[in-house]
Amino acid sequence: MNKHLQSLIQIANLDKQIDDLEPKIAQARKELDSKIAQKTSTLRAIGALQDQNKNLQHEINENDRLIHETSARLESIAKKQQEVRNEKELRALSVEEDIAKENLTLANEQIQKLQTIQKARNDEIAQLQGSISELDSQISELEQSTQSAVAVIKQEQQEIFKQKQEIIAKSDIKSITFYEKIRRWAKNTSVVPVFKQACGGCFIRLNDRTYAEVLSDENSIVTCPHCGRILYPSNKQSYKECVQ
Ligand SMILES: [Zn+2]
Repeated sequence: MNKHLQSLIQIANLDKQIDDLEPKIAQARKELDSKIAQKTSTLRAIGALQDQNKNLQHEINENDRLIHETSARLESIAKKQQEVRNEKELRALSVEEDIAKENLTLANEQIQKLQTIQKARNDEIAQLQGSISELDSQISELEQSTQSAVAVIKQEQQEIFKQKQEIIAKSDIKSITFYEKIRRWAKNTSVVPVFKQACGGCFIRLNDRTYAEVLSDENSIVTCPHCGRILYPSNKQSYKECVQ
């Protein structure tokens, strides 16, 4: 097999190895990322509860205002009752007094109800804040272990990258540039074997002339006329032999 093609197969294989390590980095970060997501959603829940408590406080204040108003009203009724002149006036004032007292009772009950809900919300907030501090310590622990795990994988990638650079340094620049251009769209299937006279990338059958070119040992790079990927013969020399 020609030397240029052999380098490209090796480079393509190393590129694939570098890419294959990416999901490992994501995997290493998985637990940390999930704890961070958990913290974010807990903070959001606390915020929602605090908003609810603010609304409850508005309602409590409104009822407080009603109580003050009604108390003032009762005072004025009491005054009027002392100056009452006839039975009719007395009855009217008594009805007014009853209504005011009932409103006072209702407002007080309402405040009690609202404060009970508010307290339950506050308990919930305190509990969530407790789990936030727990999450914080888990996150800082995970950050350390994740950092070292990711560093190991990155180091591995770096070593493969170095191998790739060494091959590139010894290769023909033109064919490398050509490969990089194809790689932009074909990613890890930029250099593919030909199986049973068909392209290993798009699987379309090659015409006899192209197939003969792939099989020949000439010093040229042959591409698939259908998809444009770089081809190499799978029957002549196996991919494995090539990358060893
Ligand atoms: Zn093809």
